[in-house]
Amino acid sequence: MKFISTRGNDSALSAGHAIAKGLASDGGLFVPEYFPQVTITELEEMLNCSYAERATKVLKKFLTEYDEKELLSACEKAYSKFEDSDPAPIVKTDENFYIMELFHGPTLAFKDVALTLLPYLLREGCNQSGIKEEILVLVATSGDTGKAALEGFKNQPGVKIMVFFPSEGVSDMQKAQMTTQDGDNVNVVAVKGNFDDCQTAVKRIFSSKEINLELLNKSVKLSSANSINFGRLAPQITYYFSAYLDMCESGEINMGDKINFVVPTGNFGNILAGYYAKRMGLPIEKLVCASNSNNVLTEFFASGDYDINREFFKTMSPSMDILISSNLERLVFELSNRDCAITKARMDQLKQSGKYSIDEAGLEKLNEEFYADFCDEEDCLNEISDFFEEYGYVLDPHTAVAVSVANNFKRYTGDELPTVVLSTASPYKFTQSVLKAIGGKVEKDAFLCAEKLYSLTAMPVPEQIRSLKGKERRFNKVIERNETEKAVLEFVK
Ligand SMILES: *Cc1c(COP(=O)(O)O)cnc(C)c1O
Repeated sequence: MKFISTRGNDSALSAGHAIAKGLASDGGLFVPEYFPQVTITELEEMLNCSYAERATKVLKKFLTEYDEKELLSACEKAYSKFEDSDPAPIVKTDENFYIMELFHGPTLAFKDVALTLLPYLLREGCNQSGIKEEILVLVATSGDTGKAALEGFKNQPGVKIMVFFPSEGVSDMQKAQMTTQDGDNVNVVAVKGNFDDCQTAVKRIFSSKEINLELLNKSVKLSSANSINFGRLAPQITYYFSAYLDMCESGEINMGDKINFVVPTGNFGNILAGYYAKRMGLPIEKLVCASNSNNVLTEFFASGDYDINREFFKTMSPSMDILISSNLERLVFELSNRDCAITKARMDQLKQSGKYSIDEAGLEKLNEEFYADFCDEEDCLNEISDFFEEYGYVLDPHTAVAVSVANNFKRYTGDELPTVVLSTASPYKFTQSVLKAIGGKVEKDAFLCAEKLYSLTAMPVPEQIRSLKGKERRFNKVIERNETEKAVLEFVK
């Protein structure tokens, strides 16, 4: 299987090479040459398999040059870091309503599912493509990718990792997780700006010939742990398959039945993985794209116009506070019938004027596969509180956005199919907001809020949170947006 750039000017590469590279040289994103198919018979063969076995089967469809045995052992090792070695357990909360809990990994967010495996995929990708240089993984984070990537790559030989996060755009707990990170190959820097600023800066570094040359002189090559990297995306495809199979096993659905997935969306990586699963043949009816008040995607799905010239809101669901959803480029590429020139033109328009539009045919296609809506701050608080009252289940603010949109979806369309909401983070990463929602008095200190949350909900405080308290802060640097290049060069000095 070869990988091509959405913008067409980069030669086709093997999976390993595309993963090692992260972003195509023309600024485009790597996509598979075609969607490999998974038949119903193959799905049936995956029943009663472990998550790691299912992951291996799905991944192998794309990573054709990877050794299957090695891939399996890497998956087993990665997913042993999750509670019960299951990164995606399903909880049924109501008739035809399910929550897929993706937050039982080392850093309590769904990013762990991919980032526990990415170090192996990258190392192997470098080996396969003969890359001998040291790898510098650059990460822009809206809060959760940073910590998950740091945990995945810390103390890995031959790799350094540098994380940029928006100085005022993450929760206190997320900040504590990142700034106390251990490991001798890591660096964490706060940037004055929002996530889009961080992501734009990182992308600029990737496509800067001068910086890449300067790094190469020091025998360093860049790679990415953001979902622009196919190596991040691929492991996320698996849990859509696994959820479906789990529901077949437990008798909730029959093999071949269609179901919906509802995804709290920011950079469009998670939901795009669902779209890939659908294109591979998984019986998915609708993919529901849930946004917070930064509802640029909701508007895009309604009108076909993508326009980032709008107010940016800081919300309770900071990991979705994004206006430039990078992975949408991969979908725009599909909607144009894989036309690289059209995709490139649209992305150039986005860069120049902050907007672009897709045509009627593209919009029609979009609405066949997706439903999109958003949830504002007030509705998010209400959803956390209502859901806790009704089911005794505590939602984090991102998942609450998705549950609220799932309810709208059911109400407006009359859809009655089994619907799975992807739960992307533990409520303990956002203690102040969750406490506020369920009526506790909010303290300034995030750890105090965690204790209060425990006393109100009896939901145990995860060890990953308890052990953070009192941990020494190693990284205090705050830089301007235009100082990211300099920070990178200093780090590799
Ligand atoms: C990253 C993140 C999201 C958004 O996922 P995308 O792949 O960027 O769309 C949603 N919720 C949480 C908790 C996240 O960390």
